[in-house]
Amino acid sequence: MTRVRARMEELGVDALLLSLGADLPWLTGYQAMPLERLTMLVLPVDHDATLVVPALEAPRVEEGDGLFVLRPWSETEDPVALVSRLVGGRRRLAVSDRTWATFVLELQARLPGGTWSPSSLVTSPLRAVKDGAEVAALRRASAAADRVAAQLVAGEVALVGRTEAEVSADLGRRLVAEGHQKVNFAIVGSGPNSASPHHEPGRRRIGPAEAVVCDFGGTLDGYCSDITRTAFTGEPPPQFRDLYGVLQAAQAAAVEAAQVGTPCEDVDGVARRVIEQGGYGPHFIHRTGHGIGLEEHEDPYLVAGNCEPLCAGHAFSVEPGIYLSNRWGARIEDIVLAGDEGPEPLNCVSHDLAIVETAASSS
Ligand code: ZN
Ligand code: ZN
Ligand code: ZN
Repeated sequence: MTRVRARMEELGVDALLLSLGADLPWLTGYQAMPLERLTMLVLPVDHDATLVVPALEAPRVEEGDGLFVLRPWSETEDPVALVSRLVGGRRRLAVSDRTWATFVLELQARLPGGTWSPSSLVTSPLRAVKDGAEVAALRRASAAADRVAAQLVAGEVALVGRTEAEVSADLGRRLVAEGHQKVNFAIVGSGPNSASPHHEPGRRRIGPAEAVVCDFGGTLDGYCSDITRTAFTGEPPPQFRDLYGVLQAAQAAAVEAAQVGTPCEDVDGVARRVIEQGGYGPHFIHRTGHGIGLEEHEDPYLVAGNCEPLCAGHAFSVEPGIYLSNRWGARIEDIVLAGDEGPEPLNCVSHDLAIVETAASSS
C-alpha cells in the first residue's frame, strides 16, 4: 500500500478505485465477485482506504491488518453514491481496468470534472515485480503444470484416437490432480489445427503422424501456470524435425537473452531472428511472451515496441511458435523468472520434441 501511494503521488492520482480484476486481491487479498452489485475499494492518496462491498459478500472479507475500513451496503442502498461521497472532491481518479462499464459511466456522471485513468497505470509496473511469496506461489504453480507436461511428453496422455476436446479435458483433470484449484485453459491443436496458436479444442480425432500442440495452465493459490509442449504421434518427417529444431534454438536463445536490464522487445527480437535465419520468419505470428502472476497475461509483454527493461522479479512466458498454415505447427513455452543471477526457467520438462505413440508403442 505504501508503494501504491508513492506511485499515486508520483503520477498525480488522487484516488484509486478498485473493483473487479487482480489489482484488488493483489493489494488486499480480497477478490470481488463479478456481480451486478458493486464492490469497490476507494483508496485516496491522502486518507484511509474503504472497501465498499455488498452486505451479503461482507462475511467473505478478511479485514487483514487494518488495510481498509469495511463498508457493507444493504440491498436498498446506492453504492455508487457511497463511492462518490468517499471520493469527495478528489478529481484525478484511476479505476480498475476491469470495472463494469455501467459503474464507470454512473461514477463519471456523479463525479463531474473528474479525470479518469485505468488503475493499471498505477499498479501494473508494481505488480510485474514479484515479491518472495509471489515467486514461491509461481514456482508451485509451474511445478504442478510441469508434472502434467512430464506425463504428456512421456506418452502417458493418450492422443491417437481421442478427440482434441477429450485430451483437453484430460489435461485439465491432471492440472487439478497436481494441485491447481482451477483450470484456466487447455489448448490441444492437432494436425492442421496445430498451426492455429489459440485453437479451440474440438471434435477432431487425433491421428497417427500428427503434430499436437498442447498449451495449458491453471491457478494454484491465486497464481497462474502456463506451459506448452508439442508432441508428434509417430516418427516425425525431416521437415517437421527441421522446423522444431529451429524453434527449440529460438526458445533457448530467447530465455538466455532475458537478462535483467535487457529491453523486453530485444528478447522478442532474439527469438524472431533465430526463426528468420531458420527460414520460418513469416510463420512466427505472435509476440514471444507475456508476464504472468495473478493474471495469465499481464505486464511485462515481450513484444516489439516494448522497450521497458527487464527487472529482477519479472515473471513471464517465453513461447515462440512456428505455424505453417493448414499443415502443422509447434510451440515451446516456459515461464521464466528474471533475476540478478540470470534468467531462471520455472518449467523444467524437456524441450525435445515429444515423440509419442510410435507404431511400435501403440499397436
Ligand atoms: Zn497464448
Ligand atoms: Zn500458454
Ligand atoms: Zn502463455
